[in-house]
Amino acid sequence: MIKLNRDAKPEILINNEHSWTSQLMDAITAFGDYSKIPNEKKEKLLVHYRHQEIKSVLFQSSLQKCAFCETKPGESGNIEVEHFAPKSIYPELAFKWENFLPACRKCNGSKDDHDTGNFPIVNPYDENPEDIFHYNDIKIAANDAHEEVGERTIRVCGLNSVRLMKPRADILVSLHSFSQALDEAIKDYEEAETDIKKQNRKRKIREALEAIEVLANPSEKFSGFCKAYLQKCTPYHEAKRLVGE
Ligand SMILES: [Zn+2]
Repeated sequence: MIKLNRDAKPEILINNEHSWTSQLMDAITAFGDYSKIPNEKKEKLLVHYRHQEIKSVLFQSSLQKCAFCETKPGESGNIEVEHFAPKSIYPELAFKWENFLPACRKCNGSKDDHDTGNFPIVNPYDENPEDIFHYNDIKIAANDAHEEVGERTIRVCGLNSVRLMKPRADILVSLHSFSQALDEAIKDYEEAETDIKKQNRKRKIREALEAIEVLANPSEKFSGFCKAYLQKCTPYHEAKRLVGE
């Protein structure tokens, strides 16, 4: 999970949020409860939040990734407009821009109707996940200072499910091998006898760094996991120091 920034509210929502919400609230009054609105009618009332204009602005803000697990569409079902506070419990927030998150079908399904109002979880638009989580090997874990909300988020969204640990394991193999290659390149550099050799070897280190840093680019899947790895990777920091000389 990485920090996301909300884009400006789409025009269609500015113009219609109030009337869409009123129609939904009127139906709840008429039928006595959100759960009692007939499905077909409910779908007609709710369909607007999946408007293409809303989707495109929202999905762009997460660089087309799931806000919770950082997978890309197609890897864990399509990306969907998720209500952070569930519309079944908080129907008044069904068309509120600040309540929307792009989420994959797996995270959306796992989170389901979890009551975020009474049992908060991390919203990456409002909090920086880097302050809350760290990684132990291929598992995400909560920092001590944020244990309750962090652990709950992991549980509610299924962030340590096999479907996420497997790709993290694959990436970890690549990162370990990158790190080993960097370590060897640094040794080669230190052993170089001439300035020309040193310059050539420094260029190789620079190229290796560029390759490894791509993985931590926010547009890449699991970039938070890669960034956390690099922050703790000694050869990476040594190489950065070396090319910065
Ligand atoms: Zn997800």
